[in-house]
Amino acid sequence: MFIDTICAPASAPVNSSLAIIRISGPESYGAACSFFTAPQNIKHRYAAYGSITDGSAVIDDVILIFYKAPSSFTGEDMVELFCHGNHLVVGNILRLLYKLNVRIAEHGEFSKRAFLNGKMDLTEAEAINTLINARSDWEIKASISQMHGSLKRVVDKLRDDVILLKADIEAGIDFSDQDIEFVSNAASLEIVSKISAALTDLRRRCSMGNKTARGIDVTLAGRPNVGKSSLLNLILNEERAIVSDIPGTTRDLIKESVQIGGVRINLTDTAGLGIPGDDIERIGIELSRKNIGAASLVLMVIDAVAGVTDADKEIISALSGKKVIYVLNKIDLSGMERKDSISAETGLSFISVSAKLGTGFGELEKEIESVIAGEFVDFSNSFLADERIISIIDSSIDIVERTTTLLQRKEPAEIIAFELDELIQKLSDVTGEITTEDILGSIFSRFCIGK
Ligand code: GDP
Repeated sequence: MFIDTICAPASAPVNSSLAIIRISGPESYGAACSFFTAPQNIKHRYAAYGSITDGSAVIDDVILIFYKAPSSFTGEDMVELFCHGNHLVVGNILRLLYKLNVRIAEHGEFSKRAFLNGKMDLTEAEAINTLINARSDWEIKASISQMHGSLKRVVDKLRDDVILLKADIEAGIDFSDQDIEFVSNAASLEIVSKISAALTDLRRRCSMGNKTARGIDVTLAGRPNVGKSSLLNLILNEERAIVSDIPGTTRDLIKESVQIGGVRINLTDTAGLGIPGDDIERIGIELSRKNIGAASLVLMVIDAVAGVTDADKEIISALSGKKVIYVLNKIDLSGMERKDSISAETGLSFISVSAKLGTGFGELEKEIESVIAGEFVDFSNSFLADERIISIIDSSIDIVERTTTLLQRKEPAEIIAFELDELIQKLSDVTGEITTEDILGSIFSRFCIGK
């Protein structure tokens, strides 16, 4: 238990209808009773209405909720004040609390106390932070499922399997003089191989989650003047890129993020891939090629009036191996039937749109959504793991590889048990069963002050 009592605003420092101030620690109840005009109504998990006063001056009318330890977020006595959302009012309440020896909390100190009081493990605590900072519905979903223990359950199961194997191997050591074997070398190898596969899968799911959180890179490609910038503006729903009938207007890469189907998309407009008019355009085209090469999905834009030209065919052949959606633009000029004739001619299937009028945009959005859902994001199966967790999983994979070699060489059971013990410790680090103050400091300092 911590001796000091802490406080902090849990809401943003902007004027709004309400603001929340949190207090946690042994003096929470006493402090609340001393400044609240209805102390008789301060009861566990009961919303009490009254005023906060500093002597005879009323600071604000508030709702006060008291949570008795251990039934609170931090596991300590806690008070939450819902006051009016003026930062001057919030400041006045905080100053009153300082006078009562309640100090301002450090970043993430409420969550840190919750972790240290066993209210949540580190994966759950970190998920609160990713939820607060989430930039897409996908990230929100993934954070909530992690906050509810999805990553913890996977790691705990792995750790339990290692503990069981180590126990069997150690039991064999104890009875070695009687030649009793609790788990054979072949069986141990099989278990370790399953643990290795599970760790590799976990690593893949973490990478996938982090990639999705950063955003899927989608690039617009095509010849100059086919309507790439117009399409970017349509998808972003703003006039972000300059649209002009002068070829070569987009020279630099234009990057913006947008949410499609709940997933964050990093959309890039590139310089049209044609014969450069000058050096700047040449550099722009070079940049475009690099960007298209790195993209997870390419929207290849084709002018419906011109059809698939030789220059288009060259770009298309350079896209081989990439995930591509073919977009037939300027359908307002060509007529809808153009799509069928171009499809029959080329064997490609197109989404036809008019970037100018917005026709076909819903269909394009659906197609992007379905490609992303099918190719990149497995909603229920990826995790949001930070560098700390990824590096623990990587070292766990190293230990498993070492253990496999030792088992293959039929090394003594004591050596195998030692490696497995190290693996158990490593996996415990993920959930924070064993942590140092340094690690906790680096995790919780990334949180906001009232969390
Ligand atoms: P980019 O060079 O590929 O980025 O092409 P832009 O977006 O700058 O467009 C080139 C020209 O085509 C501009 O004059 C646009 O107004 C026009 N344009 C783009 N999309 C459409 C469309 O769907 N229909 C029509 N009629 N014109 C379009």
